[in-house]
Amino acid sequence: MKIQSVRGTHDIYGENILKFNQIKSSVSCLAKTNGFKELNTPIFEFSNLFSKPLGEQSDVVLKEMYTFEDRNKEYLTLRPEYTTPMIRAAITNNLLNDLPLKVFGIGPMFRRERPQKGRYRQFNQINFEIFGSNDFIVDVELIVLADQLLKKILPNCKIKLNLNSLGSKNNLLDYKKVLSKYFNQKKNHLSEISISRIESNPLRILDSKEEADKSVCASAPIINEFLDEESRKHFDDIKKSLDYLNIDYVENNKLVRGLDYYCKTVFEFKTTDLGTQDTLLGGGRYDGLIEVLGGPKIPGIGWAAGIERISMLMDLLEENSNIIHIAVLSERHKHYFLKLTKYLREKELSFYWNYKYNIKKSLSKANSSKAKILIIVGEKEENNNFYTVKNLISSEQFELQLEQITEFLNDKF
Ligand code: AMP
Repeated sequence: MKIQSVRGTHDIYGENILKFNQIKSSVSCLAKTNGFKELNTPIFEFSNLFSKPLGEQSDVVLKEMYTFEDRNKEYLTLRPEYTTPMIRAAITNNLLNDLPLKVFGIGPMFRRERPQKGRYRQFNQINFEIFGSNDFIVDVELIVLADQLLKKILPNCKIKLNLNSLGSKNNLLDYKKVLSKYFNQKKNHLSEISISRIESNPLRILDSKEEADKSVCASAPIINEFLDEESRKHFDDIKKSLDYLNIDYVENNKLVRGLDYYCKTVFEFKTTDLGTQDTLLGGGRYDGLIEVLGGPKIPGIGWAAGIERISMLMDLLEENSNIIHIAVLSERHKHYFLKLTKYLREKELSFYWNYKYNIKKSLSKANSSKAKILIIVGEKEENNNFYTVKNLISSEQFELQLEQITEFLNDKF
């Protein structure tokens, strides 16, 4: 029997796991400096956490959720996104008593999409959320955070921030009505899939990649004309701040995002280096959502970035090799070798040995892995109670007692 991996899933190993770990450590560092606390939620939740808030007519709910009936007849869903589980967790654990709450999370999401380059059925997301503030400064802070993270990890990539405002829930309702009316008039020119969305989800048509739809959308009414005074000011304030901070953006009045819960600010960081799956990071405001999920009437905003897409574009930031390699010259010195490794572990110094009692093979492995130090364990060493420590960069060699090794490494590296 040949067992295969499930379509749309992928194993992460080799260079990719190093990239994943580098992304995660950049995220943790950024979160720490900006006062975000990590919040981890389960991989599955009750299905109703997603179906209504995300929108019964959204693609995710209509056809992408992995939902199953549990033995006690309850419906459970593998989380397709992180915002609603984060809010659920904040409510469940009474974290919303002390506001604003700034949380982040990293983990797998599941969507039954058609797999292609940069699109998987299990993929990993980074999420940042701030609950409890209306202030436009919060929108700016989250956008700047995203910008800094992407610039740090992908310094050579062309990435553009796309920005839009959807206005208040009421603005959006008015806009949807006008949009449905417009698309109904142009029905003959739309693709079949878009025709099916005219009443249920007209916003989604604006996102369509079908050529026929694109030209109809080009002259469609735009949301910006429907913004009320407060939403317009909120949006203008954000743009002014981004200008002030020299953060480049384009205003994209077709940017609506796929889920129902968004209002006011929406944004995406897109790249031209990835093909059709060109969005690296996306987010927006979801005032009202926390209340819908049974929490207090407080606003919220957040973003999510895809780790797979980021890692596809990234170079390893630094060679991640063990700087110490060990060469054991014969099986007779196993105990003396174990004494060395016990010491290195105590000192939290990472090391590598290829399990071959052969100096040539150990040396060649150390060279190909770009190790900086080779510690030789042999007869001469054991009889005289020292280790030969070779600096592979300068080729200098020293005979050191165990306790001298850390001092030597601290000095040189
Ligand atoms: P979304 O929750 O759809 O706004 O997605 C946020 C980010 O997650 C996107 O910008 C992508 O980087 C990533 N992402 C979303 N769906 C997928 C997928 N099916 N496969 C890989 N990455 C994804």
